[in-house]
Amino acid sequence: MSTFTVINPATEQPVVDVPLTDLAGADAAIEAAHAAFPAWRAVAPGERARLLRRFATVVEEHVEELAELEVRNAGHTWGNARWEAGNVRDCLNYYSGAPERMSGKQIPVPGGVDVTFHEPLGVVGIIVPWNFPMPIAGWGFAPALAAGNTVVLKPAELTPLTAIRLGELALEAGLPEHVLTIVPGKGSVVGERFVTHPLVRKVVFTGSTEVGKRVMAGCAEQVKAVTLELGGKSSNIVFADADLAAAAAAAPYAVFDNAGQDCCARSRILVERSAYDEFLSLLQPAVTGLRVLDPADEASEMGPLISSGQRDSVRGFLDEVEVAFAGSAPTGPGWWVPPSVVTVDDPASRIWREEVFGPVVAVMPFDDEADAVARANDTEYGLSGSIFTNDLGRGLRVARAVEAGNLSVNSHSSVRYWTPFGGYKQSGLGRELGPDAPLAFTEEKNVFIAH
Ligand code: NAP
Repeated sequence: MSTFTVINPATEQPVVDVPLTDLAGADAAIEAAHAAFPAWRAVAPGERARLLRRFATVVEEHVEELAELEVRNAGHTWGNARWEAGNVRDCLNYYSGAPERMSGKQIPVPGGVDVTFHEPLGVVGIIVPWNFPMPIAGWGFAPALAAGNTVVLKPAELTPLTAIRLGELALEAGLPEHVLTIVPGKGSVVGERFVTHPLVRKVVFTGSTEVGKRVMAGCAEQVKAVTLELGGKSSNIVFADADLAAAAAAAPYAVFDNAGQDCCARSRILVERSAYDEFLSLLQPAVTGLRVLDPADEASEMGPLISSGQRDSVRGFLDEVEVAFAGSAPTGPGWWVPPSVVTVDDPASRIWREEVFGPVVAVMPFDDEADAVARANDTEYGLSGSIFTNDLGRGLRVARAVEAGNLSVNSHSSVRYWTPFGGYKQSGLGRELGPDAPLAFTEEKNVFIAH
């Protein structure tokens, strides 16, 4: 069996070799998950809930271990990595409330009784990217398992370690074998097999828009259900009446968190023209003051990029523009890019249009509310966005006008597991999280019983 060497992106040192599952191995995992499905769906709702709560408790007991793996594997800061492991625990606890609440409806009809049932789909295939390996895995498997499905999950080749450990913890918590199976391997082998294998009844894909389109096209061949969480180019809109100091202090964290490798990164900042110069002068110290350090250091606020390829791609964007100002980054080993601010006049420029997926933010002035909304919506993406203003009416108006799935006013709220999350336009299809997520892993069945 071939292997992949996991590299610490902050040091470029090898961490461990991970076996890569081949096509036969992927088929075996899917068939075993299919065989485990009838027994798992038959587990009484209260017992399934108890097992998910037990899984959450075991994750809680291993938060430090999981976080340490992510610091080494993905270059995440300790603060982020602990939050991410805790997010898996919280997601499991939240969806452990679902099995006993999967109620159908009783619909009035003449001549009998009509009732609906939410039935699990069978095997669900979850494909995870490298930027948030733990949360994105949990957002898929927690509601899918709660709804009575079995799950096969492919982590990104670059970041398999926490997913593999979560699979082991599930067994330790008492989940039956093959109910949650981690299948490390290549996207072109394991990921594609989730799409083409007829026993996988739904694919949950998070990753690039380019690959997402291929996944969707592949699922169409079998009319297979699919959820897509794809790229973003989100705007942080700052009006002149906002608390500019607060907006400038918060802006770096909304785009440089996880070194900008965040689908929700507010990588465009739109500033009302009358406040533009003042905002930039407030932004500069907030950017240069960011602590960009090896994430092994607990004080680090931003780590490296995930790979040399990602670093080169981000540098390619920066080579095309003039950087207005930038923060610092370590020299020596590791795939570092300093947090960088670019001012943009031309909305056709590549740095304004494409997802950089690195610590780069583009700033542009706007004239009025209508202009701000038009500029924010001038993109094929629609994942998230922020609005800073002291006028609550305007905050709500603009939040309703921006074509994106997740907006926040006077904050850059991150994703909450108990509120829905997903994209408009080419940022995605379907929603994850929130109270309705388990329903996305079911078929609704209607039964009529004649009097
Ligand atoms: P990617 O290249 O599309 O890969 C994502 C996942 O798909 C990986 O596990 C990859 O496996 C797998 N894959 C690759 N080719 C495949 C294929 N032909 N069939 C099935 N699976 C395949 O994306 P990435 O570069 O890892 O992640 C960054 C992207 O994800 C960004 O665009 C970001 O915006 C997006 N993202 C979106 C959200 C959201 O919720 N909207 C959240 C996080 C990230 P291998 O890597 O092992 O090849």
